[in-house]
Amino acid sequence: MTETKILHASTENILDCVKYLKNGDVVGIPTETVYGLAADAFNADAVAKIFKIKGRPSDNPLICHISDLKMLDYLTCDKNSSLFRNITEKFWPGPLTVILPKKAGVLNLVSANLETVAVRFPSNAIARSLIDSFGRPLVAPSANLSGRPSPTTALHVYNDLKGKVGAILDGGRCEIGLESTVIRLEGDLVEVLRPGAVSVDMLKSVAANVSLGDSVLKPFASDGAAVCPGVKYAHYSPKAEVVLIDSSFSNFCKYVLDRMGRDVWCVVFDGEQGFFQKNVLTFGSSPASQARNVFSILRKLDEVGARKAFFRAPSKSGIGLAIYNRLLRASGFNLVVL
Ligand code: AMP
Ligand code: MG
Repeated sequence: MTETKILHASTENILDCVKYLKNGDVVGIPTETVYGLAADAFNADAVAKIFKIKGRPSDNPLICHISDLKMLDYLTCDKNSSLFRNITEKFWPGPLTVILPKKAGVLNLVSANLETVAVRFPSNAIARSLIDSFGRPLVAPSANLSGRPSPTTALHVYNDLKGKVGAILDGGRCEIGLESTVIRLEGDLVEVLRPGAVSVDMLKSVAANVSLGDSVLKPFASDGAAVCPGVKYAHYSPKAEVVLIDSSFSNFCKYVLDRMGRDVWCVVFDGEQGFFQKNVLTFGSSPASQARNVFSILRKLDEVGARKAFFRAPSKSGIGLAIYNRLLRASGFNLVVL
């Protein structure tokens, strides 16, 4: 059993983490989206540790993180289309992952044997400084146990992975709180495979043709090929059964009040909690604050011992679509529209 240290993200500690990575070990790192579990993208043993530690299915590929456009040369030969350049000029560094044709040297373990590789250039200063000092791309899936809500604080990472990782760099609470938007480019078409803080409307400001992948609001069709393999797995779930209620607040109340009981909780927007006497949590008022809080609240449901939770659905516009998508998956598509 490894001793797990939570390290303040000082320059010295960042350099210590670079040593762990060069040794083929993994470390927990902050990014602006969620905490990542980082490893050298070109060290097969280190990458294998990530799958083992997280319990991640091996057919779910990893995102490679860069801190400089020159690092793209390790990963792909296809970085010159005007669509790719326009999109990355606008949204990199930031919470956007682009799927690109992969170069021969990219490990099959990283790309889950696909012909493509997922790339992101994070904006978080600690993540960038770590990748810069390391000098090569790092893979960094979310630093949770597979299936659990993604971690947005160093303590969330510690609670999931203590004894399994040597170090977690503590960069405070993640600014965005939801994983990156994942897009695929085909000709002049941008397809959103996973929604995130870079919204469909934001993408439309630089690309004429933006569509939403089938899996964003629907369960994975078991007979279809997964374009974004991660979508076919159960995700983000607390132990409680989550029911997502897409309705007005008054319909939410009518539906939920009859169904409350021991260990049954409801999660509403800030300011709505007064309507319930007990077993109520709030997850923010603006879409940005709901995004920051949603994974903490899903973890909180476990802490309070909830058996069932009725979750008020956010609006589906802007970053709201990404929150809605995560809650649909956390509920196993247990959606009630009123
Ligand atoms: P995570 O790192 O846990 O946030 O998950 C990464 C997401 O990116 C998963 O949903 C993966 O399926 C997706 N992804 C990574 N690489 C590829 C790829 N080459 N093609 C399509 N989706 C990918
Ligand atoms: Mg994840």
